[in-house]
Amino acid sequence: MGGNASNQYPAYRQLGVAVLRERAQGARERLTACNLCPHRCGVNRLEGELGICRAGEWALVSDYGPHFGEEAPLVGRGGSGTIFFAYCNMKCVFCQNCEISWGGAGEKVSTEGLAEIMLGLQRRGCENINLVTPTHFVPPILAALAEACDNGLHLPLVYNCGGYEAMETLALLDGVVDIYMPDFKYNSGEIAGMYSGASDYPDRVKEAIQEMYRQVGDLVVNERGVAIRGLLVRHLVLPQDLAGTAEIMAFLAEEISPQTFVNVMDQYYPAYRAHRYPPLNRRTTREEIRKAMAAARRHGLRIYRD
Ligand code: SF4
Repeated sequence: MGGNASNQYPAYRQLGVAVLRERAQGARERLTACNLCPHRCGVNRLEGELGICRAGEWALVSDYGPHFGEEAPLVGRGGSGTIFFAYCNMKCVFCQNCEISWGGAGEKVSTEGLAEIMLGLQRRGCENINLVTPTHFVPPILAALAEACDNGLHLPLVYNCGGYEAMETLALLDGVVDIYMPDFKYNSGEIAGMYSGASDYPDRVKEAIQEMYRQVGDLVVNERGVAIRGLLVRHLVLPQDLAGTAEIMAFLAEEISPQTFVNVMDQYYPAYRAHRYPPLNRRTTREEIRKAMAAARRHGLRIYRD
């Protein structure tokens, strides 16, 4: 961990503005029959057709600013420069941000506008640019990143997603993203289908995390303890072990790396429509959290603690 690696990052500056523009163009072309995520809706988003996520051509930003509630290696001194995107390619019945993810509350931003948001976060002293729920807006994000890079952006880029990713989209992000922060929500397809509308989620998230790890490796922090590159997995413990925590931890340790940095989150509460889906209509118990933490520890993973 740590050391003098900070000079090599962020990755996208090495790639260069011309390549970023090519990637943005390639991504935009895929909006004509959208297959940006594994739903592969096939709708023409450039002609106003809407798929499952309901996102259009332009990025919708619901909020942005320095955020101090993220994991400590992302926050550092200046906070994580979060940009929250509206809509989501997952349809979780217990979403804690449903006005944004289901309702699409946000402002449409141009390429220049999004680039300026990134540069503004850098001017405010943020440690990174943290793209929250970016999957369905990868084309406008890449276009804005090229613009911002051309104008001096030099912060690490964090891709903070639900883990339901298409391999072709991850290929566009190879050499662009410094820190991947996917959720790993469920180990069962039946449960993922029932509560998030994505029954192939376990297969897709596993191959996505493998690819993310291939691109960026284990989490690396600089001399101040701030993350500059690598993988950080978030896992929310669900009531009655609906998430399959032990199996997920085993996968991370055995198929990714025993050094995987994992945040096992204990803050589940029944938001949005969760009251209609017992046992999601209650909080997790202390015993459920204890078992989940024990499973993570058993596999020797790097477990994040607040
Ligand atoms: S990004 Fe949206 S429109 Fe495109 S495939 Fe995924 S859910 Fe469908």
